[in-house]
Amino acid sequence: MATVQTARGPVDAASLGKVLIHEHVFLMDMEYTLNYRPDFFTEETIDSAAARLNEIKALGYDTIVDLTVLGLGRHVPSLLAVAERTGVNMILSTGLYTFDAVPGPFEFHGPGLLLDAPEPMVDLFVRDITVGMAGTAAKAGMLKCAIDKQGLRPGVERAMRAVAQAHRATSTPITVHTAPKEHTGLEVQRVLAEEGADLSRVVIGHCGDTTDVNYLLRLAEKGSLLGMDRFGVDFAITTQDRVDTIVELVRRGHAGQLALSHDCCIGWSDFFPRFDDYRRAMPNHHLRHIHDDVLPLLREAGVSEAQIEAMFTANPLRLFAG
Ligand SMILES: [Zn+2]
Repeated sequence: MATVQTARGPVDAASLGKVLIHEHVFLMDMEYTLNYRPDFFTEETIDSAAARLNEIKALGYDTIVDLTVLGLGRHVPSLLAVAERTGVNMILSTGLYTFDAVPGPFEFHGPGLLLDAPEPMVDLFVRDITVGMAGTAAKAGMLKCAIDKQGLRPGVERAMRAVAQAHRATSTPITVHTAPKEHTGLEVQRVLAEEGADLSRVVIGHCGDTTDVNYLLRLAEKGSLLGMDRFGVDFAITTQDRVDTIVELVRRGHAGQLALSHDCCIGWSDFFPRFDDYRRAMPNHHLRHIHDDVLPLLREAGVSEAQIEAMFTANPLRLFAG
């Protein structure tokens, strides 16, 4: 069985158990945090993140995929400190999250640019996967990029092709943030396929934000995993709509291509002044929401235990083990 990299080191893919495919331990604008939020760099921040992870471990969830890459405030030392205090496997990610331009360090450096060179992002991502991240021995186990309603902007396409090339070099799976209302998942599959990526090792993220089953079936046809991964983001679409869409996809025979998650911030975020503010603004956006509120609805609608089990276990396992 394949080996998967986690914050605590490599584990056998078979031991991943139940996986929440898209979460964030911390989420922030790192420059803002460095300047204005000293409360991030505390033991309490680490402890509260670990405590929330341990809570879902007790409910039977064994692994989370942390999709916090460059652009979302990845802070490896804090992630590793949390990993030391929880029994949950944390699969960490590399890549770039942008809806438009690339960040300054890549603006003038790359193919055909002022400093003409092979795409520097590919080397950085591959190094994160094969050597370790941020000077540590912890290796990334997932690649990530994004495309939102702005579409395939030049910076977005550059990051996406770099992610695909790192995937080909290392056989690491890919998750892509997409805007389902604009059908950007189809664009993702086109670009990744052009780069020779294995679309069955790709999660089209945020598919759960739409009820457009025809669009989702087109994505499923190409073999990708559909991320029904924003449970608790209630301002986008209701929980019942998210559930009904899953039920319909299951009815059409696609239980083997769905993975459920929250895309929540587990421990700390500067998106709100205090964690309590986040709780108040998004009361369902936490790690227990699927277990406590969503699974009963799926069961009630006739989704079987075996199908639910596949969404958390067999489907993510296939993504990681190939
Ligand atoms: Zn996310």
